[in-house]
Amino acid sequence: MKISLVVPCYNEVQNIIPFWELVKETFAGQNYEVIFINDGSKDGTLSKLKEVYNYNKDCVTVVSFSRNFGKEAAILAGLERVSGDYASIIDSDLQQPPGIVLEMVGFLEKNNEFDIVAAYQKERSEGKIISGIKNCFYKLINKVCEIEFYPGASDFRTFRKNVIEAIISMKEYFRFSKGIFSWVGFETYYMPYIANKRYSGESKWSFFKLLKYALEGFLSFTTFPLKIATYLGFGISFAALVYMVVVFIQKIFFAIDVPGYPTIVVLVLLLGGIQLLILGIMGEYIARTYIQGKNRPVYIVKEYLAKESCIISEENLTNNKI
Ligand code: UDP
Ligand code: MG
Repeated sequence: MKISLVVPCYNEVQNIIPFWELVKETFAGQNYEVIFINDGSKDGTLSKLKEVYNYNKDCVTVVSFSRNFGKEAAILAGLERVSGDYASIIDSDLQQPPGIVLEMVGFLEKNNEFDIVAAYQKERSEGKIISGIKNCFYKLINKVCEIEFYPGASDFRTFRKNVIEAIISMKEYFRFSKGIFSWVGFETYYMPYIANKRYSGESKWSFFKLLKYALEGFLSFTTFPLKIATYLGFGISFAALVYMVVVFIQKIFFAIDVPGYPTIVVLVLLLGGIQLLILGIMGEYIARTYIQGKNRPVYIVKEYLAKESCIISEENLTNNKI
């Protein structure tokens, strides 16, 4: 049995060596490989990764991107190159203990009916406001999407080989991993864990990045926002009809003058705003179709350090050429 670790790294210069030391210690005596993906880091991350590779060529692979393509692209690049029976995605900042990977693999070994183990944080370390917003997001997205999103479960997951094949067969450019992991199906077991503090450096997720990511989830896995136009159209037409009848009755039977100017201004602004909003939503979907239509690779590799046997399998990759 072989375990593959997929490790996305973006500006993690201080974390690489401690992470590698911890992995070596945790996986001593196991058959494993570590695939580091340098996602266009601007600090010395790549040279640290090369250092690790040079001393451990048998079990370390380094894929270095030509620029920062994002964690989702890094996950794809890693999963495309795994050779193990199980693959786990794990961050390089030591927040996620590698020991949990062994527990996840142990669980899959014993429980054949499950194909994925997803670790979720028992206690969340972020502030109340952020975790409140996240909970609202999960409630909303679970309501409008056919697939299920488990609150608190991140990319820290372990997959069997059949699941990895399913994930990399999804060639979409806009990759919302949590959605993809859920969309491919298979039985998932949710395992609680406690995340550590970041060893060094800062999280790359600002509030606005999180917001953009949440929006990505909606746009990638539901077309519900497009239906808003239809629903609003029905609602507003109905309200307009009722209002027309009210005005008519007031004028004919009670001779009440309806204040024309404010009514028109409010209606024009309201309808104009709604139309712009709907146009914006449609634009988001059209833009995604347009970019997907260009068929650009999800990432570009600049450097690839791996054992020769691994490099041969590189020819099989469809997503990217070196
Ligand atoms: N990461 C990456 N590309 C990016 C942003 C992040 O590969 O554009 C990596 C990062 O190096 C880390 C993991 O993704 O290993 C998680 O990032 P981070 O710790 O910033 O996220 P958080 O733990 O705060 O969710
Ligand atoms: Mg982190």
